[in-house]
Amino acid sequence: MAESRTRTYLGVPMYRPRVAFFEFSSCEGCQLQILNNESTLLDFLSLVEVVNFREAMTEQSEDYEIAFVEGSITRDDEIKRLKRIRKNAKTLVAMGSCACFGGVNQLKNRFRNPAGVKREVYGAHPVDSGPVRAVEDVVGVDLRIYGCPVSKDEVEKMVLHIAIGKSIVVPKYPVCMECKRNENICLFEFGEPCLGPVTRAGCDSWCPSNRAGCWGCRGPAEDVNLRQMIRIMEEHGFSEETITDRLECFGGFLSLMKPERGKGG
Ligand code: SF4
Ligand code: SF4
Ligand code: SF4
Repeated sequence: MAESRTRTYLGVPMYRPRVAFFEFSSCEGCQLQILNNESTLLDFLSLVEVVNFREAMTEQSEDYEIAFVEGSITRDDEIKRLKRIRKNAKTLVAMGSCACFGGVNQLKNRFRNPAGVKREVYGAHPVDSGPVRAVEDVVGVDLRIYGCPVSKDEVEKMVLHIAIGKSIVVPKYPVCMECKRNENICLFEFGEPCLGPVTRAGCDSWCPSNRAGCWGCRGPAEDVNLRQMIRIMEEHGFSEETITDRLECFGGFLSLMKPERGKGG
C-alpha cells in the first residue's frame, strides 16, 4: 500500500524503496553483514521495504526498485537469472568483492586445466561451474559496494542516500590515509606486506589496525601506481609469489596487472 511506503524524516515525507537481495556464487557473507548488526537493523528496515532476502524471509517478489546482487557469475542459469533481475530493477548494486571483481572465487580462473581440477575436487559428482565473472561482465551495474565482506554501515548509508536522493560518494583515496589517521605504525616496519597504498579506503583500515596487512579486498584506489607498489614490496624483500598472491586474491587489481604476472596453474 502507498501509505506503508512513505515515512517522514524531520517532517519531510521519505519514499521507502522496494529492495531485494540476491546471491549468486558466494559465501553469502555480505548478506549476513546486513543482518548482523541488530542495533541498526530496525532503523534500516524502516528506510526500505525489503521484498526479497532469502537469508531473512520466505516471501519473494519480482516487484522491486533496488537490487543488491552478491556473488560472482559462474553458470548459464545464473546469467539468465541476473538478466531478469537487471530487467526488473531500476538500480542494480554490485555488493562485495565477488560481485564487483569476481572476489576470491576468481582465483579459480588461474587454473589452466579447469576440467582436471573439477575431476580432482568433485570426482564422480561433477558440478556445473564455469569461469568466474564479475556482475558487470554480464549486465550493467549502477553502483558498487566494495569489500569482503561489505561494511553494513556503507550499505545502509548507500540505501539512505538513494532514499533521500543524495549523491553517493565512495572514497577514492587509499587505505594508507585511514591507517595514518588511526595512528598505526606501518606494517612494512614489521616486515609484513600490505596493499594499503593502492587499495580503496572505506574500511577504516580494518586489517592494518588489527595488525594484518591489507589484501586489497576493496580493489584499487583511484590513479594508483601499481608498478611502484610492486617495486616497494620487492625492495622489502617479498617474493614474486607473495606479491602476486596478494594482488590476485580478490581480483580487483587484475585489470591493472601485466598479464605475465599471472601464474596459471
Ligand atoms: S565478497 Fe566476501 S563475504 Fe561477500 S560473498 Fe564474496 S566471499 Fe563472501
Ligand atoms: S600498514 Fe599498510 S595501510 Fe598502513 S600505512 Fe603501512 S602500507 Fe599503509
Ligand atoms: S584493509 Fe584492505 S583487505 Fe582489509 S578490509 Fe580494508 S581493504 Fe579489505
